[in-house]
Amino acid sequence: TQVYNFSSGPAMLPVDVLRHAQQELCDWQGLGTSVMEVSHRGKPFIQVAEEAEKDFRDLLQIPSNYKVLFCHGGGRGQFAGVPLNILGDKSTADYVDGGYWASSAVKEAKKYLTPNVIDAKVTVDGKRAIIPMRDWQPSDNAAYLHYCPNETIDGIAIDETPDFGPDVVVAADFSSTILSRPIDVSRYGVIYAGAQKNIGPAGLTLVVVREDLLGKASKACPSILDYSVLNENDSMFNTPPTFAWYLAGLVFKWLKEQGGVAAMDKVNQQKADLLYGVIDNSDFYRNDVAASNRSRMNIPFQLADSKLDALFLEESFAAGLHALKGHRVVGGMRASIYNAMPLTGVQALTDFMVDFERRHG
Ligand code: PLP
Repeated sequence: TQVYNFSSGPAMLPVDVLRHAQQELCDWQGLGTSVMEVSHRGKPFIQVAEEAEKDFRDLLQIPSNYKVLFCHGGGRGQFAGVPLNILGDKSTADYVDGGYWASSAVKEAKKYLTPNVIDAKVTVDGKRAIIPMRDWQPSDNAAYLHYCPNETIDGIAIDETPDFGPDVVVAADFSSTILSRPIDVSRYGVIYAGAQKNIGPAGLTLVVVREDLLGKASKACPSILDYSVLNENDSMFNTPPTFAWYLAGLVFKWLKEQGGVAAMDKVNQQKADLLYGVIDNSDFYRNDVAASNRSRMNIPFQLADSKLDALFLEESFAAGLHALKGHRVVGGMRASIYNAMPLTGVQALTDFMVDFERRHG
């Protein structure tokens, strides 16, 4: 059976990328060794690193006054990295709470500042939603405003583009939505994303930071989280996760071949429409997020009869549809359908769902 992996992360990678990596695993660039075994300071790896950055910049059309940093520490590392680098001499920042990950960022930030939490969660006609950005009201004394545009667990997205004027530094956790659609980078001060969903293997974290925000790190900031130190050392202050960086570079090339993020945007919309369509057209399945805030990347859904959950998971796994179990804090099912999930994978899932409903509904 063809297997489709709906894991939320580490997640499915493009099979062409994996085959490419497999082919050169033991003999990379004719060196008789793998890319994992060469120095990050040698010419061959430096070229990989620079190309990856260039391709990533091209894909997101990152303006030249932004630095791209290849870091360790994951999304959670940046929950600390953002306050430690951006707070400066202020003592507070605005944190918009739209779900599990945004509130996890608040918890970490409390070690360094007193956050002004803006609870953006609302219920509209019985569906979960987020209050519109125009009602967020950033505070005057905040160093920055932090939010999470895609809540991986809740299946909630905030797709609006920030427009708070030049005085508000926006920091955003793009871990589960980066590269899934174009972003206007110029509206942000800091964008960060753990790699293991839409970029590459776990172990790498990308940070995009506006140049003028460098040089403000707290004295207590560990050097390996300090944006200025990382920038001055081309993200090689300490040994970077070289294999993850190499593989991310292959994913960026693959993305360019697919037509870039504009092409991904289209397919991602088709995939999400297909799956939400099947959920909405039945009383057997349900998703309780308002249409305006539905994630295209992570789609949680419940069975009306939760006694069928175990059977659904067993049968779907047997059909090659893996990792559909919902997050433990939400229950039910969740299909994560990042860039590497082809439309045929979502088609296979919806075919299975329709058939399962026919047999058990
Ligand atoms: N932010 C978001 C939106 C996530 O989905 C996750 C993980 O799933 C994290 C942060 C935490 O990332 P990491 O495990 O890389 O620290």
